[in-house]
Amino acid sequence: NTQIAPETLIDGNILVAKSFARCGVTHMFGVVGIPVTSLANRAVSLGIRFLAFHNEQSAGYAASAYGYLTGRPGLLLTVSGPGCVHGLAGLSNAMANAWPMVMISGSCDQKDAGRGDFQELDQIEAVKPFSKFSVKAKDIKDIPNCVVQVIDQAVSGRPGGCYLDLPSDVLHQTVTEPEAESLVTAAFNSSKSKSVANGSEVPTSEIEGAVELLRKAERPLIVFGKGAAYARAENELRKLVETTGIPFLPTPMGKGLLPDTHELAASAARSLAIGKCDVALVVGARLNWLLHFGEPPKWSKDVKFILVDICKDEIELRKPHLGLVGDAKKVLELTNKEIKDDPFCLAKTHPWVEAISKKAKENVSRMEAQLAKDVVPFNFLTPMRIIRDAILGVSSPAPIVVSEGANTMDVGRAVLIQTEPRSRLDAGTWGTMGVGLGYCIAAAVAEPDRLVVAVEGDSGFGFSAMEVETLVRYQLPVVVIVFNNGGVYGGDRRSPEEITGPLKGYLVETPDELKSALAEAFSARKPTVINVVIDPYAGAESGRLQHKN
Ligand code: ADP
Repeated sequence: NTQIAPETLIDGNILVAKSFARCGVTHMFGVVGIPVTSLANRAVSLGIRFLAFHNEQSAGYAASAYGYLTGRPGLLLTVSGPGCVHGLAGLSNAMANAWPMVMISGSCDQKDAGRGDFQELDQIEAVKPFSKFSVKAKDIKDIPNCVVQVIDQAVSGRPGGCYLDLPSDVLHQTVTEPEAESLVTAAFNSSKSKSVANGSEVPTSEIEGAVELLRKAERPLIVFGKGAAYARAENELRKLVETTGIPFLPTPMGKGLLPDTHELAASAARSLAIGKCDVALVVGARLNWLLHFGEPPKWSKDVKFILVDICKDEIELRKPHLGLVGDAKKVLELTNKEIKDDPFCLAKTHPWVEAISKKAKENVSRMEAQLAKDVVPFNFLTPMRIIRDAILGVSSPAPIVVSEGANTMDVGRAVLIQTEPRSRLDAGTWGTMGVGLGYCIAAAVAEPDRLVVAVEGDSGFGFSAMEVETLVRYQLPVVVIVFNNGGVYGGDRRSPEEITGPLKGYLVETPDELKSALAEAFSARKPTVINVVIDPYAGAESGRLQHKN
């Protein structure tokens, strides 16, 4: 090896970046520091866009939403120990929502593990409850295979969060350039996600059975969720709904697969639709708390469920009348083909269709009457109506709406109108608050042609408000609207005299300004922030721990 010139050696950081780039990764979210700063720089030099956040939690939420919007795993890069722990928020959110994501964390030197090394943590153990697959690269030569495995696993079957552990000693090992190239190529050629279609073939008999049930139903309903949105099944769904005339109900993030304004939309008659339907075709949505577990009293006890899901375990868990395991887009394509041979369509005058449409119209006009009022000081409805109309005024592509908060999200779900697929991101399956800013950043980079509009409660916004600076740094087209009632659930109802006053702020650039700000602030004993402007050229990477980088 002594004859090899040093410039032909590449280290673990470069090999990680090369491997992800070869897998087609174009974005990475995260927070750099020891031992992954160089990894991020290498990724950037290979054309991967690195979005630097203030906290791994928000960056992780961004990675999870990016996975949902693009169908490719969102990447989160974190430092070891505390960085990894903060990142668990994003990883677990990806798991709960069934979105593809990969968290990559640096970890301490393998020879120092167990001796109290800098930011030491058994990260493989820590991520276990929150990931579907995890792997540690124990040697530089493992890196390309580990990268391909986490990418494959994140998107295979039910999507979810995966974890890649990169010990700092492995990041500093080297291989020759040709060796690196052949390792990356071999790993990439073994990748499943680039070649094998996702999911199994659904037997024809099952498709026939599903169509037969729908055909014979007196009160059929089609329910779809964010799994169908992830599968990009919008065209097949529209065809199914429009050829059969069956009313449909989207889940909150299923909204927009078909426009909320469609004449067969049953959202405004939700209780009637789910309470009275006799056959429900549920596509890419779990019968969990959001759908009342598919049980009485919300659903009729005799309803026959046909579940379409990529995940066999999900179908076994719910024990539906009929379960079709497969990709939503493919299953619906087959279903449409089967119907085409012997078409059926409920007339607009069909009692079930008429009952739903009548109820929906009644509820919509009741809501519109409330919305029409200009109530000041604002309730939740008045500003929501104004925002709805402004969003509807944006020409296609429609904005992506990000929504969180308790009242703000509930009211927004009913009032805001979704007309395009994957155009709504909210607290989701886990009811996660604090996702808003991360989702905004993910949406803006995943879909650069779209405006992003966040409608946030002040509490949800507050979880990650500092990421507003990230929006500004990258100049992203995001409008954040905060419904501010000054508190969680309800606002601060004290009288103005009881509230002791705002924050005092100082911007200081000279010794005298700093001395005077400190003197005032120390004696006032009130909430104060002193912003001390430092020369951007002062300071070194990683402070005094440069040897660890
Ligand atoms: P929602 O919150 O909209 O009700 P859920 O997250 O509960 O949706 O359910 C989504 C379901 O979609 C999950 O059970 C997941 O396994 C499933 N799913 C994910 N990808 C696909 C796909 N390509 N085809 C069919 N189902 C899918």
